[in-house]
Amino acid sequence: MAWCRARLNSSLRLFFIFSLIMIVGVLLLGLALAVSYRAEATRRGLAQGRSEAVLMAQTAIEPQLNGLALVGGLNSGETNDMNRVVNTAVRSRFVLRLRLRDLAGEIIYANDDLSLVAQTTDDNRDMVPILGAAHGVVFAQISRLNDDSNDSTAKDPLAVEVFVPLRAGHPRQLVGVMEVYLPYAPIQADVEAGINGLYRNLAVGLALLYALLVGISFAVGTRLRRQIKVNEYLADFDALTGLPNRTQFQHLVALEVERCARSGQRAMLAIVDLDRFKEVNDTLGHQNGDRLLVALGARMAAHFAGLGSVARLGGNEFGILLSDAHEPHEMLVELRTIIQNEISVDDLRLSIESSIGFAMTPEDATNTDVLLQLADTAMLSAKTHHLGVVRYDPSQSRFDVSNLALIAELRDAIDEDQFVINYQPKVRIRDGSIDAVEALVRWRHPTLGLLGPDRFMPLVERTDLIDQLTDWIVRRVLKELSQFGPGADNLVVAVNVSSRSLNRVGFANKVVAAMDAAHVEHSRLLIEVTETVLMSDPVRACAVLVELERMGVRLSVDDFGSGQTSLSYLSTLPVHELKIDRSFVSDMVEDFTHAAIVNSIVELGHNLGFSVVGEGVETLAVLKALAATGCEIAQGYFFARPMAVEDLADWLGRYIPVGAFDFA
Ligand code: C2E
Ligand code: CA
Ligand code: CA
Repeated sequence: MAWCRARLNSSLRLFFIFSLIMIVGVLLLGLALAVSYRAEATRRGLAQGRSEAVLMAQTAIEPQLNGLALVGGLNSGETNDMNRVVNTAVRSRFVLRLRLRDLAGEIIYANDDLSLVAQTTDDNRDMVPILGAAHGVVFAQISRLNDDSNDSTAKDPLAVEVFVPLRAGHPRQLVGVMEVYLPYAPIQADVEAGINGLYRNLAVGLALLYALLVGISFAVGTRLRRQIKVNEYLADFDALTGLPNRTQFQHLVALEVERCARSGQRAMLAIVDLDRFKEVNDTLGHQNGDRLLVALGARMAAHFAGLGSVARLGGNEFGILLSDAHEPHEMLVELRTIIQNEISVDDLRLSIESSIGFAMTPEDATNTDVLLQLADTAMLSAKTHHLGVVRYDPSQSRFDVSNLALIAELRDAIDEDQFVINYQPKVRIRDGSIDAVEALVRWRHPTLGLLGPDRFMPLVERTDLIDQLTDWIVRRVLKELSQFGPGADNLVVAVNVSSRSLNRVGFANKVVAAMDAAHVEHSRLLIEVTETVLMSDPVRACAVLVELERMGVRLSVDDFGSGQTSLSYLSTLPVHELKIDRSFVSDMVEDFTHAAIVNSIVELGHNLGFSVVGEGVETLAVLKALAATGCEIAQGYFFARPMAVEDLADWLGRYIPVGAFDFA
């Protein structure tokens, strides 16, 4: 509430600031317009004075002149005539002062006291208009009456001072200059009257403009505020069902997880997925699908009203959060029945099944993301096995988020040498001699016990830790080579390398450097890469393999037959060995198709010059079947399970080679 008020206050404040900015803008606009109005009015005043003076010269002065240039002054008759005309004009306040000048600018007649005229009249500056008029150009300016005299004061009236060329005679020619001071007050009054009207209109116009701008900004602001509210709503709620959306649900779950951690209470998080909803959408149309979602969402919300929260997480997935859930399984079974109750859509009566997975905090997880993932995993398990309602169980997923904890522990595990290498022999079928041993990593986890690579390698491969782990394995294997016991000095060791490590820049050099540091011959290392590794970035993989082969390291393609690699692509790679995937080998006695696949891989592999290994040999029967295909190397529990280095040394010491064909 306080937040809303703060938002409202801040938007009102913004509106007022905006109004103030607008008023400053409107006032500045008014000022600029007023200044230009005034300049225009003054210009018009001058133009009016000028035309009055020209009219006066033409109608009252020029007819008095005899047509000769005014040099030398007026005679007494002319002066009298002039006095009469001028005095009449002055008396009727039409003119303030009048002077006549000859074409050189000398005053030859004046109706005022010339003794007061300052010497500055001879200034070039003041002579410019006079001489201009002597050349036929009318000049007008606003000045004070006695500007040119020694006793000029600010009280002197404003006048329009006009210099008019005088023309007389036939043909008319310039004979002198009339300098006349017209009272500016009446012109100004005229101008002021006009300008005041303009100012009034301007003020009204600007006020209207301001009101319009304020109105528009208010309307736009209101709409924006409304839109913001809608957006805020949509950020937290699903537009279709009106239920909280995933973001809001995650927030609610986080609060609940925290509350449970503090209070020691437990809460349940469930994910409900409507089965075969896609079919509903496809057959009844999206509109009806939407109606169904709204109706079922409302059902769920009504069922848990006051007990917890129901949210739509997206698509046909809903989330349920229940505090203090004592019998969560029963409650969810009941919910499932309620969802399943008939519902009528588009005159069709439908019954929708659902899969529900749930997890409990704090028992299953105390982290919001993990809890959501666990419920999701449980829901998938319910869906896959058609179990209805399922609580999360670690066995449901091998790579679920509980593995996040494992990933966190992996870093320390490498530093603390928690990994161990087991070795499994690869045996030459012909004579039973040991061709190589394959290094297989295990994690001696402090609490979970010995973990096989399938449990953690897929996790490590998703992080940068894979490089550290590969480096560690290579170094450890090279170190343990010396513990293989007497007679194993030249035994080849095979190391599995995952795609990320193989494709890392400098991988080949790093491996070779490690071998040199351990004084191990390059030919004692065999690198096993799976088909998928080769196919993830074939160009790069090929480059690395070529580099390794150049330095004498041998290469093997693991799990062959399970992927998409073609033999012709393989023939372009510097590969020495093919390992047939154990899924084909281990059941080749019972499965003729698999036997046929093993057969053709062996044949094609030999044609391309590779040696071929069959792995997963668990029985003598399989070994014999494999031998019959011509495959030269076998690996499997039949000979030995992967074992620690000490056990390998023992095993090698006790091992008596027997060729497959020598078995009874
Ligand atoms: P892989 O390279 O195909 O290794 C052979 C797997 O088959 C090993 O499982 C081995 O214990 C198992 N195996 C051997 N003989 C038999 C048999 O007769 N029957 C049956 N059922 N299984 C047999 P493991 O050690 O659990 O390794 C699984 C996979 O983990 C390996 O498959 C390999 O892809 C990966 N891996 C193991 N160690 C490493 C490693 O150091 N680095 C990398 N990148 N991956 C590794
Ligand atoms: Ca392997
Ligand atoms: Ca394999």
